[in-house]
Amino acid sequence: MTVQNRTDVVVVGAGVVGASCAFQLARSGLNVVVLETYDGPAEGSSGRSFASVRAQWADALNIDLSWRSIKAYRDFEQTHGFDVGYRASGYLLLVPEHAWADHLEAVELQRAHGVPVDVLDVAAAQAVTPFAADGIAGATWGPADGVVDPHLAAGAWLTMARALGAQVRFRRRVTAVEQVGDGWRVTAGDESVDCRYVVNAAGGWGGEVAALAGPDVPVVHSRRNVYATAPGALPGPLPMTIDVGSGVYLRSEGDRLLFAGAKPDEVDGHNENVDWPWMENVLEMGTARFPWLADLPLDRSGCWAGTYENTPDHHPVLGEAPGAPGWVNACGFSGHGVIQAPVAGQLVVEEIIDGGVRSVDMSALRLERFAEARVDTAGMVF
Ligand SMILES: Cc1cc2nc3c(=O)[nH]c(=O)nc-3n(C[C@H](O)[C@H](O)[C@H](O)COP(=O)(O)OP(=O)(O)OC[C@H]3O[C@@H](n4cnc5c(N)ncnc54)[C@H](O)[C@@H]3O)c2cc1C
Repeated sequence: MTVQNRTDVVVVGAGVVGASCAFQLARSGLNVVVLETYDGPAEGSSGRSFASVRAQWADALNIDLSWRSIKAYRDFEQTHGFDVGYRASGYLLLVPEHAWADHLEAVELQRAHGVPVDVLDVAAAQAVTPFAADGIAGATWGPADGVVDPHLAAGAWLTMARALGAQVRFRRRVTAVEQVGDGWRVTAGDESVDCRYVVNAAGGWGGEVAALAGPDVPVVHSRRNVYATAPGALPGPLPMTIDVGSGVYLRSEGDRLLFAGAKPDEVDGHNENVDWPWMENVLEMGTARFPWLADLPLDRSGCWAGTYENTPDHHPVLGEAPGAPGWVNACGFSGHGVIQAPVAGQLVVEEIIDGGVRSVDMSALRLERFAEARVDTAGMVF
């Protein structure tokens, strides 16, 4: 027998984005039901991420969304009483000569948004993270960039949402959606929920979930691998360090080193198996820049893979879908959803409660941009 219930909003997905939306909608006075396939929060991309946050981007939109979110993480404990693991451990970007002039322009843009960024010469950067200087023009350091714990963040948002009356239901995979009156009926297993609004926070599954209702949302899973050295071998903590030329990045996690690098010809699709052959390529590029990496023993049991939720321009799909009143997408964060989850919830509240987002120019985020071919690709994607 199908159990039927009614609410104001159904949020599909309990990753960082869905959890942030659920809390911020509940705080705005709406009744919220969260439906999630997995057994708990942040079991999708969120729990498999590098857990790093930065406001060092080359485009104004990402700088704005990321910096607003980092400040929310920074103030989380004071505002809400939960430690979500934000640590301002910094981001060091090592920039090759050919990209240096553009990079310095991006620094000006970041500073214009109030983001703290220091420009370092090679020697100063080597004092932060040792590296081989060939071809490097200089570096930038974001002292407010760092890490956050996606499990703690999602858990905190859902705990606060529940305290405000939201219901969070795990092991509920949404399999059908239909328009009923001026709202939606969302079905997950033997339960259906009638609601005025659906927030599609299904990450890399956002396209599949939207297709149940009609809108064509171009989001694909794209695998990313994280490789780890054995515990105890790293002499000291290292901040997130990105070799911009090769795209290899690394940071310490406790007494391990985590390192990674995107594979250019990765095939789209949900795949959480670690790509071991690709590790050899990352090691080759990584040891060319960080020769000491060759001396660290690897630990295969500490490695993992997950998926980015990529859109064609690497910006999320956010806002009410055209032709589907009450269907609000908040998915496709393309590898920066942990960073931007706080602001995602704020924008969804503006869209639903205020009847439209005014705090940012949404034209680069709305689904319509793909039909209108208004696609400005996000800068500095790793
Ligand atoms: C290796 C790796 C490193 C990364 N590093 C970073 C980083 O350093 N910084 C950063 O900001 N981002 C990083 N990311 C990306 C980041 O993890 C994502 O952008 C972010 O987690 C997206 O959050 P989400 O809530 O949208 O998606 P998810 O966490 O994937 O959550 C979506 C949820 O929707 C649920 N769902 C899907 N379909 C249904 C359905 N039909 N019914 C019910 N529930 C459904 C899923 O089960 C899932 O739990 C990384 C990702 C990977 C894989």
